Amino acid sequence: MNIYENMGLKKVINASGKMTTLGVSTIDKNVGDYMKEAAMNFVKMDNLIKKSGDILSQYTGGEGSCVTLGSSAGIAISIAACITGKDIAKIEKLPLNEGLKNEVIIQKGHAINFGAPIIQMIRLGGGIPIEVGQSNKVEPFHIEEAINEKTAALIYIKSHHTVQKGMTSIKDMVNIAKEYQIPLIIDAAAEEDLKKYIGLGADLVIYSGGKAIEGPTSGFITGRKDLIECCQLQYKGIGRAMKTGKENIMGLLKAIEIYNQKDMEASIKVQKQRMEWLIKQINTINGLEASVIQDEAGRCIYRAKVKINSDILGVDAYYIIRELENGNPSIYTRNHYANIGIINIDPRPLKDGEEKIIFERLKDIIKNLG
Ligand SMILES: *Cc1c(COP(=O)(O)O)cnc(C)c1O
Repeated sequence: MNIYENMGLKKVINASGKMTTLGVSTIDKNVGDYMKEAAMNFVKMDNLIKKSGDILSQYTGGEGSCVTLGSSAGIAISIAACITGKDIAKIEKLPLNEGLKNEVIIQKGHAINFGAPIIQMIRLGGGIPIEVGQSNKVEPFHIEEAINEKTAALIYIKSHHTVQKGMTSIKDMVNIAKEYQIPLIIDAAAEEDLKKYIGLGADLVIYSGGKAIEGPTSGFITGRKDLIECCQLQYKGIGRAMKTGKENIMGLLKAIEIYNQKDMEASIKVQKQRMEWLIKQINTINGLEASVIQDEAGRCIYRAKVKINSDILGVDAYYIIRELENGNPSIYTRNHYANIGIINIDPRPLKDGEEKIIFERLKDIIKNLG
């Protein structure tokens, strides 16, 4: 029994992804050991924040970096940094923002909910979100038209949650940001490439430590040195309500070191093989049709896609999802396409052998339909 089961909470098999509702990621044992030691010793936090920033920058290519509690905090803090600069009086005044240069331009198709609304995180940092264009079409002129003397930043959200077509590209936003000398922030929370967006010319890029990097609850902002200093200063203001502890900072550093050394191709190959095994098994069940598909946002994730044939089974995907969740252990699948009868199984969070439990459970659920 794990410690959650000891408390009377059900064991979870996560076939869903890096989901905050399931605890995001589980950490490597080495990361855990590192966090334990960090938690048992004191350190001067200002120095740890600066030093950890220097180390993170080696992985990102940014001039500087600032640890955060996560990407949500990263958004609030980077927006606050663009609004206040190094002015402590302004830093202490946030999130009240009257009279400050505080408008933040975001494409309408990027104003998503990732579990909470993006625009709320902008507001938390003292920003006034200015949504431009339409939800399925935003052109550079929509952005340029909205720029004025109150514009503090442009923000671009790189995520599978956003509208994937009809939006203005990062390249065009970089050009606009340079032309008008306004900082461009990219929220790359779940992205795997830690250098790409700095390379493309963003001023600040935000990552979650618990998603691709599989660290503890943490995150960071990386980018332009002057702006990063302004980010770090927010810990004297709104950042205090989102402070990261020493153990999480150290866990993030260990996790990113392991992530950087990881043989991605090999681990993707193993994940793909496990999903190929699973689809072969699932395809022996009458009424289910399985195949391997790549991530819709183009990341190197190969999931098992299971199509529920309602004509044969007499139940829909939502019924199967409910049955999987209601059993013990609870199995959580990736359900963005349940409305069209598709359930996806994500190999990344699965522990050894859990694909076999998923198959057995699916078999039982279908058998019990009679
Ligand atoms: C997950 C996510 C966030 C929030 O990240 P946390 O680390 O959970 O705070 C923000 N933006 C996007 C696009 C995300 O996917």
